[in-house]
Amino acid sequence: MTNVTLITGDGIGPEIAQAAQRCINATGAKINWEIREAGIDVMAKAGTPLPDSTVESIKKNALALKAPITTPVGAGFRSINVHLRQIFDLYACVRPCKSYKGVRSRYSNIDLVLVRENTEDLYAGIEFEKGKDDTAELINWLNKHSKKQIRSDSGISIKPISVAGTERIVQYAFDYARKMGRMKVTSVHKANIMKFTDGLWLEVSRQVAAKNSDIEFEDRIVDNMCMQLVQKPELYDVLVLPNLYGDILSDLCAGLVGGLGVAPGANIGEKVAIFEATHGSAPKYKGLNKVNPVALILSGVLLLRHIGNTAEANKLENAVAAVIAEGKDVTYDMKADRNDPTAVGTQEMANAIIKKITG
Ligand code: NAD
Repeated sequence: MTNVTLITGDGIGPEIAQAAQRCINATGAKINWEIREAGIDVMAKAGTPLPDSTVESIKKNALALKAPITTPVGAGFRSINVHLRQIFDLYACVRPCKSYKGVRSRYSNIDLVLVRENTEDLYAGIEFEKGKDDTAELINWLNKHSKKQIRSDSGISIKPISVAGTERIVQYAFDYARKMGRMKVTSVHKANIMKFTDGLWLEVSRQVAAKNSDIEFEDRIVDNMCMQLVQKPELYDVLVLPNLYGDILSDLCAGLVGGLGVAPGANIGEKVAIFEATHGSAPKYKGLNKVNPVALILSGVLLLRHIGNTAEANKLENAVAAVIAEGKDVTYDMKADRNDPTAVGTQEMANAIIKKITG
């Protein structure tokens, strides 16, 4: 038995978590699920969006499947997703973007993997609020030490990029490429403008690439990368990106393969791995049994591969692919017409996947 923490999240989280759990169980994988909560729903009763029991369970099991969690905009608590990545030092976010037959998309045969640095950059959560004393102190210091002047009514977010952080993520991208039989790693940056952060990222990327010369290496400026991915995605293989660009390009690449509904992800650290869909908690669909469970189910496929349950992972991925290819028992977002009355609900799509697995 492998112990796995199942974080049910909020918004559409609990319903897709249930669907994913049922599909993974149907493969026969020997998983002992520890169900834990996080997000706005548990906030009222636990007084925190991330109860200690959830953190302890992840720490003990070192493995979690996590449904999405809402991050209120502007106010409220800071992102639990970012917080979890920081406390467990989940430095690598791996997002495969693969075309499945039957998914409506402008492209076919896309098979890209994004490796996003998960702990640094503007997402490090080092922020100074407009009007606060420490913000004024920081602005004064910066104005004294820089030719550029910052307005006193500014808010400030800090973008740290380190040698150590860049080395380990770029090395991870090369190791991943080698393990998965992939040919090329592309490092993405804006080194022409942010010389001391993205410039450092590029310099370190090149140094790591020189030690991994069996795999092809190239770099791209992030804006050019966006255009290239839209025009000729087939030229790319494994992309390694700082946190913010990684976040944005993950959604772009999810769009290339048919949308957020089919984009899985894994957050990997030295000790702990958390698997989750790329999409968020889509609060407007909460409780409607409407949304697509596939991204979280495919995150389960990544989890099964991670723990060496390759046969179970293949069974589940093939079942998902078959249901999508048939296009019958799929949610509204996978139908040609989003108002198609033959679209099925979240649990019904999971049932169809389970039926393919169990025969
Ligand atoms: P979202 O991904 O939740 O939803 C955007 C739109 O995508 C939805 O309105 C819906 O049309 C579609 N969509 C998303 N998931 C779908 C699914 N499974 N099936 C069908 N359609 C789906 O993005 P958002 O609205 O920007 O974010 C909502 C909340 O989720 C925010 O608070 C955000 O911070 C949070 N979020 C959490 C995570 C996470 O937990 N890892 C990731 C991204 C966003």
